[in-house]
Amino acid sequence: MAYRLGIDIGGTKIAIGLVDDDGEIVHQGKFATGETIRSYDEAVPGLGGLIRSFCEHLGLEAAQIRSIGIGIPGVIDYSVQTITSCPNLSALDNLALGPCLTEELKIPVWVENDVNLIALGEYHYGRGQGCSDAAYIFVGTGIGCGLILNKDLYAGSNGTAGEFGHMTIVPDGLQCGCGNRGCLEMYCSGKALTLKAQEAAVAHSRGWSSAYELIQAGREGDPVALPILEESFRYLGMGIANLVNLLNPAMVVLGGGILTGWPAGLQTVQDVLRSSLREIFWRHLQIEYPLLGEKAGLLGAAVYARSKAAGWS
Ligand SMILES: [Zn+2]
Repeated sequence: MAYRLGIDIGGTKIAIGLVDDDGEIVHQGKFATGETIRSYDEAVPGLGGLIRSFCEHLGLEAAQIRSIGIGIPGVIDYSVQTITSCPNLSALDNLALGPCLTEELKIPVWVENDVNLIALGEYHYGRGQGCSDAAYIFVGTGIGCGLILNKDLYAGSNGTAGEFGHMTIVPDGLQCGCGNRGCLEMYCSGKALTLKAQEAAVAHSRGWSSAYELIQAGREGDPVALPILEESFRYLGMGIANLVNLLNPAMVVLGGGILTGWPAGLQTVQDVLRSSLREIFWRHLQIEYPLLGEKAGLLGAAVYARSKAAGWS
């Protein structure tokens, strides 16, 4: 039996999944990122050692791993397979992780943006299977987005397509970390709701300091929290309406911790879409939750490795 490894490198944890040809994760493990990637110089030997010991522990020989896909929270320059920006894991900045690990392990290794791989995993094994075009949007601390266009992952000319959270939704609005003002991410995300919670705590004498507390208050029907949440998800709805006007996807898959915490946001988004899009756009549009949870990134990485390694020798 031959396998692929799907790997998701996050700021605190590295998840590794051994994936068979049927798309089943037959074994998985989690490891501390800080113990594996201590610095730029140690990243390749650290990850190489981790992958080797993961395989040895399972009694697998290197030859049984056909290829490896890795998701990272950053941007990759495809022309040289180099990570150009990895804000939460700066040890990976400017590292040609794919080629270097390929050399180290003698197994083809491919690296992609983590959210793109989550989208790919959902598309192949979870929500959106069979659609030719689908957008996957995840509202967590920030907003992540992966696009499937014409049945394939769409990464754009420089690998940065799908920066949905940085579309301008309010002219001259709140300052965003990307340098722009009024980005969608500053109005609907964990970061945005934390700012709103802290403002409301002062203005309305509430004990909130985080998005979580604001959402919890909304769940209990707090009259200050409810309109804040409603407004936030209206902005998300506007952003999705823009995306639908541009791309006409058959499905928008909407997930992430903030949506899970405040599922009523899905209805707000649907109301905005219905009132702002022409009927032909929203009548056939499906808005759905993702199905796979954290498995999506590992499966997507394995799918990516399989498709990329098809022409590798
Ligand atoms: Zn921005």
